[in-house]
Amino acid sequence: MSKLRLQFENDSVEIDKNSMVADVIEKLPLKNKHNIIAVYINNTLFDLHTPVTIEGKVKPVFIDAEKALDILRHSTSHVMAQAVQRLYPKVKLAIGPAIKDGFYYDFDFLDQVSEQDLSAIEAEMKKIIDEDQAFERYVMPRIEALSFFQKRNGIYKLELIRDLGEEESISFYKNAEFIDLCRGPHLPSTGYIKAFKLLNLAGAYWRGDERNPMLTRIYGTSFFQDKALKAYLVRMEEAKKRDHRKLGRQLELFSIHDEGPGFPFWLPNGMVLRNILLDFWREEHRKAGYVEIQTPILLKKDLWVLSGHWENYRDNMYITEIDGYPFAIKPMNCPGGMLVYKEKIHSYREFPIRVGEIGLVHRHEKSGVLQGLFRVRSFTQDDAHIFMLPEQIEDEIINVIELTDRIYSIFGFDYQLELSTRPERSIGTDKQWEMATKGLENALKKIGKQYTESPGEGAFYGPKIDFHLEDCLGRLHQCATIQLDMSLPERFDLTFINSKGEEERPVVIHRTVLGSIERFIGILIEHYGGRFPVWLAPVQVVILPITRDHVEEAQKIYKELYNRGYRVQIDDRNEKLGYKMRESELKKIPYIVVIGEKEIKEGTISVRKGGRQDLGSFTLDNFIQLLSGEVNQKK
Ligand SMILES: [Zn+2]
Ligand SMILES: [Zn+2]
Repeated sequence: MSKLRLQFENDSVEIDKNSMVADVIEKLPLKNKHNIIAVYINNTLFDLHTPVTIEGKVKPVFIDAEKALDILRHSTSHVMAQAVQRLYPKVKLAIGPAIKDGFYYDFDFLDQVSEQDLSAIEAEMKKIIDEDQAFERYVMPRIEALSFFQKRNGIYKLELIRDLGEEESISFYKNAEFIDLCRGPHLPSTGYIKAFKLLNLAGAYWRGDERNPMLTRIYGTSFFQDKALKAYLVRMEEAKKRDHRKLGRQLELFSIHDEGPGFPFWLPNGMVLRNILLDFWREEHRKAGYVEIQTPILLKKDLWVLSGHWENYRDNMYITEIDGYPFAIKPMNCPGGMLVYKEKIHSYREFPIRVGEIGLVHRHEKSGVLQGLFRVRSFTQDDAHIFMLPEQIEDEIINVIELTDRIYSIFGFDYQLELSTRPERSIGTDKQWEMATKGLENALKKIGKQYTESPGEGAFYGPKIDFHLEDCLGRLHQCATIQLDMSLPERFDLTFINSKGEEERPVVIHRTVLGSIERFIGILIEHYGGRFPVWLAPVQVVILPITRDHVEEAQKIYKELYNRGYRVQIDDRNEKLGYKMRESELKKIPYIVVIGEKEIKEGTISVRKGGRQDLGSFTLDNFIQLLSGEVNQKK
């Protein structure tokens, strides 16, 4: 029997090839073995049921690891399918992956199933978990696997097997009576599932294709601790209240019509927000030494062939014709930016050249994945391309990180950094990759920020740094990115004159800070729960006269604020003060100013901070001081 050598910390153990991972763990000098649910050997994940086939470094995955949650949740999806099969024996099973924050399983039910049935399914799942059934893995030859599902009328599983390569061994996971086609990995047993909840039910086309049958998707989530599940459910409730689609309507920020699925309309309030954000962006970029350009939305096919988009990205592009010639709507700003660079001969003395573009791009997304401002078909990227010398990479990356940090900190966003390195399929030489990756790494080290590394996750044309922004509910959103590009300078034959008077290729980075303006505003809406700080709020102040008699004075104050540039409204409708107050609250206006008999007599105004906090009486001058202070400090 052939032997394999495994490295664990400073020890090395020899095992028989195809030993079970569970047996391998027994041999390792480790504590808390019960809490290990899988191991990495080099970068491949093996659960305890899988035979070891490779040598390398072993790293155990404990139940408190991020990856462990995926394994837990996928295992919970099996348990849900098992419970469903017990309750609805005629059901046909499709697929059941772990997803961000939970899992789902798609079912083809003969019976009518609704959200009311979820608690019965949960009860059945509870029984399966209490039985602590062990998961077992086994492999079947392709022919047997096909006949296994043919006998059971498993039409969806048959389709999945047929899509697998002829060579691939087909693995199954079994716990008690339940057997599923599955690549794994899985928990040791169902008893590891400590806390779970089924969340909702939705229609989903088989394989996301609307020509296929509509299946029933049941969503759920699970955790290793009850406490974590409870905290998650509270967060979800809060997130529902903050849903940007709901608040977008309520605050009249944006709309999306059937006439333009995935193409947002910006309403007057949303435009105010958007323009303030862009003014802020422009000012910060001006200070950081950027210039700005704008390139056309429609450009000839030839350009997209040159950039490689025609070959690699055409499915996501909208294509049209002008005078019989094919054109495409830009999905990215880069090719246009490269043309602008090429308009002149550049010298190394100009470097780094930082060229920003607030560019409107269009990308085709399937209708099923569109989601408010988070997933759209047209959006505005706050792009920039930086052209520089190889030795400028490090400093320039630091500049971009610092700029992003400054911009995010204004909104109170924390973020996590991720460095992605060379993937298997890539262009460029070893030397180029080495230089590029070192440049990014050194910048991250110099700036002293923690970061995670994702080996092999870079783009085919260069390594990158992604910023995962953390909102007030602890949810992560990938926004800013810094990508080094070794492809476009070649494709566009970009050059500059170096200090020896020779032509050389510049280094190019693509970077965004906000990512997509649309998505960033969606995140801001949810982050603030629609209650924007004064500097951003579409309406900063609303003035409420108590009765008709006070309208004249209210109008004077309105004019005073309006002429000073504040975004102010007056509600002089003949309605009760309480009613008008409640409406202003629903619009989440930062300041509510009340004018009545007492105020007119004293020459003051009564000020309420949105969110029902009474600030008492102010002179108009004092109130303006308060406002301008907050606007200047971006509060
Ligand atoms: Zn599975
Ligand atoms: Zn670009």
